[in-house]
Amino acid sequence: MTAYTWNDHTYDVVVIGAGGSGLRAALGCAQAGLKTACVTKVFPTRSHTVAAQGGISASLGNMGQDDWRWHMYDTVKGADWLGDQDAIEYMVRAAPAAVYELEHWGVPFSRTEEGKIYQRAFGGMTKNYGEASIQRTCAAADRTGHAMLHTLYGQSLKNAVDFFIEYFALDLIMEDGACRGFTAIKLDDGTMHRFRAQRVILATGGYGRAYFSATSAHTCTGDGGGMALRAGLPLQDMEFVQFHPTGIYGSGCLITEGARGEGGYLTNSKGERFMERYAPTVKDLASRDVVSRAMTMEIREGRGVGAETDHIHLHLDHLDPKILHARLPGISESAKIFAGVDVTKQPIPVLPTVHYNMGGIPTNYHGEVLTKRGDDPDAIVPGLMAVGEAACVSVHGANRLGSNSLIDLVVFGRAAGLRCGEKLEANANQKDLPKNAGDDHLARFDKFRSAKGGTPTAKLRAQMQKAMQEDCAVFRTGETLESGVRRMAEVVGGVSDISIQDRGLIWNTDLIETLEFDNLVVQAVATVNSALNRKESRGAHAREDYSDRDDVNWMKHTLAWVDDKGGVKIDYRPVHAYTMSSDVEYIKPKPRVY
Ligand SMILES: Cc1cc2nc3c(=O)[nH]c(=O)nc-3n(C[C@H](O)[C@H](O)[C@H](O)COP(=O)(O)OP(=O)(O)OC[C@H]3O[C@@H](n4cnc5c(N)ncnc54)[C@H](O)[C@@H]3O)c2cc1C
Repeated sequence: MTAYTWNDHTYDVVVIGAGGSGLRAALGCAQAGLKTACVTKVFPTRSHTVAAQGGISASLGNMGQDDWRWHMYDTVKGADWLGDQDAIEYMVRAAPAAVYELEHWGVPFSRTEEGKIYQRAFGGMTKNYGEASIQRTCAAADRTGHAMLHTLYGQSLKNAVDFFIEYFALDLIMEDGACRGFTAIKLDDGTMHRFRAQRVILATGGYGRAYFSATSAHTCTGDGGGMALRAGLPLQDMEFVQFHPTGIYGSGCLITEGARGEGGYLTNSKGERFMERYAPTVKDLASRDVVSRAMTMEIREGRGVGAETDHIHLHLDHLDPKILHARLPGISESAKIFAGVDVTKQPIPVLPTVHYNMGGIPTNYHGEVLTKRGDDPDAIVPGLMAVGEAACVSVHGANRLGSNSLIDLVVFGRAAGLRCGEKLEANANQKDLPKNAGDDHLARFDKFRSAKGGTPTAKLRAQMQKAMQEDCAVFRTGETLESGVRRMAEVVGGVSDISIQDRGLIWNTDLIETLEFDNLVVQAVATVNSALNRKESRGAHAREDYSDRDDVNWMKHTLAWVDDKGGVKIDYRPVHAYTMSSDVEYIKPKPRVY
């Protein structure tokens, strides 16, 4: 086809992604005096972080006593002991400072009567090591992510981060196991770009769109994970996919957990508050895996609501309309638009919906990407970092607590900036890129651009999304997962017959959606194969044929490599069974009681 010419750029650091994590990392690098660029396929304030509603956790103690150790305990327990406790300690200790930093930069947090940052209750957040629910989640009404993203974008501009907006990153340039840069296409004019950098930071978000019903934006296609796999790197703990208990029935649109934090509760067709049976202490504020499973059980046992008895009711109609207006205005509007209900009078129809990927690109708590090399399970990949939902640092282990992602974004975005400031010299000389750098990326790009097969991308994508939704859901068995593995192999087989209609280079959505699908498909393969491989139940991974957690055999991170034929190799990394400092002891696994 066309001969492409490269537009070359050199930076100290280039961040791919302008969500909460990417912007915080770019801002930190720029503040450290490094020449920094941020490349993003959507306008920064359209990144999925903008949709985050409920809030950001930090033990500020504004609503009563709190302690970072309690936050640490809750996070370790919520993660079902698969989280790395050094990273968890790092996060919860840095959390209050990270929130105050956001406040000082301009995030308009909701306030208490005395003018302090308002904090609401969220699932799994407790006081005194599980005694009772606590209010730890800082919120800007139910538009916290929106407020954060706009503030961070403004601060990044102020600190002279160079933005490359509506550029789609294709692949990483690797040399001798190190990352040297990456390639991208500018979507509005079809020009090709090659970025060279001392460090590339992947902040590309999750891959929720591998499933049929997801709360995440259509742009959440896990492009960074796809790039990492093609660079020969593994992804970690991909079997752990979080279902949010309250996606609106039908559309999948999210109703924040903050709704239950403000006093909302779930009922079945008998009008019964069934969470009292499953989690007697914290009830509707149990962690998300527990609530999603309880809802699925109720529906399976015939106690779902609606004509098909296939969903559950979320009640807010007993709450003061003034509170709903002040604290939950966005979801009141979503419920009206997407379910046609007035939350002050009627319950919202809800169903567990794919929400978050605990798995991703393995990193340490500085954001440096790790791989297993020989006997070293924590070998650093030079030149490459990852933050946010694309990464698996692993603070969320087998299950993330609500409001712990937004804090993960800013704490580890900040950590990545600090690390770059510490390790890199500004404007240091960088050797030339390998002569043919990026040629293989163009070959892949052209393969799709000229694809003349018989299957439209949309059809294959739907096939993948259905297979994942049906066979790799809230409850799993060996049988469903084997079927999922088979169905995903068929999808991979179908890629060679893909059909593209548009051969152009300007705003070619047909082609870009195909590249996104190609990124999704390898991660769906990693997810379902890792799930079949893990023969226990832990966190969000609930196997009916192995219903117990098995700490003897399975207290380890899964690593999965996927080749371009869909072949999967699985290995493991040990969970960090130690903390970061001597201020706190390793929290030993406890049986699962809620
Ligand atoms: C509806 C919803 C509500 C949520 N509410 C909360 C909450 O209240 N509290 C909480 O803690 N968590 C919440 N979460 C989770 C949290 O919001 C996300 O995990 C988090 O925002 C992800 O941020 P990120 O920076 O990793 O990526 P995103 O915000 O997803 O941003 C990804 C960025 O990468 C860029 N990108 C991706 N691929 C490419 C490519 N190929 N080339 C160039 N750029 C690329 C995109 O343009 C974008 O800028 C919520 C999630 C959803 C879906």
